[in-house]
Amino acid sequence: MLEIIQIPLLSDNYSYIIIDKNTNTTGCIDPSVAKNVVNILKKKGIGLDFILNTHHHHDHVGGNKELKEIYNCKIIGCFNDQKRIPGIDIKLKDNENYNIGDSLFKVINTPGHTIGHICFYFMDQNFLFCGDTIFSLGCGRLFEGSYEQMTESILKIRSLPDCTKIFCGHEYTESNAKFAEFLDSGDDLLKKKVSQIKRDRSMSKPTVPTLLKEEKMFNPFMKFDNSQYLDSIKIENISDVENFKKIRIMKDNF
Ligand SMILES: [Zn+2]
Repeated sequence: MLEIIQIPLLSDNYSYIIIDKNTNTTGCIDPSVAKNVVNILKKKGIGLDFILNTHHHHDHVGGNKELKEIYNCKIIGCFNDQKRIPGIDIKLKDNENYNIGDSLFKVINTPGHTIGHICFYFMDQNFLFCGDTIFSLGCGRLFEGSYEQMTESILKIRSLPDCTKIFCGHEYTESNAKFAEFLDSGDDLLKKKVSQIKRDRSMSKPTVPTLLKEEKMFNPFMKFDNSQYLDSIKIENISDVENFKKIRIMKDNF
């Protein structure tokens, strides 16, 4: 069993401390800065055994070196991106399994936002730490990868069980919701969801984690092959990649 502590960092980043309850082994996903992570670990009276990085961007690895110095923890990242993950020790490949204590996870390569982007999927509890691949109601910008790669990456995530909890790297939900509503203003369920998001954010409550089931219903970047949806947002159904590309470019210019 994993206990998860969600840590808001910088202006809109999320890092996560994960604790395997059987063994008290700890990990930290994407520490952009060390300070708040250290404070929480101190308060709990625990150390840090692992850092898990989804990708090389500074707002995901910025705390690596300082945390490694303090805790002598091992840093886990993508084999293909080992040159860009500061302090990396454990280089994992696509589909490779690894353990945090008794908690087993699988690496899922999800290139697109960056070439070496990976997700960590803890299958026993259906927890997915997906960095900047998928956000609630959105997806990461394509800084390095192709539309083909990102479409493929999203399909991989979409094939996980509906009950998968998605722990993403940013609180972008409210602005993503504006785009989702702009595309499909006639969806009453989406309207309801957006009102809830606005209420939560007005009280500074996180809208993350989100459920894969809900993302499949509401996230425009998960519906590129849904012909009814494409009709309602007036996009011609050409192919998964072309449809995804159109939606992504519209969002980039929104
Ligand atoms: Zn990023």
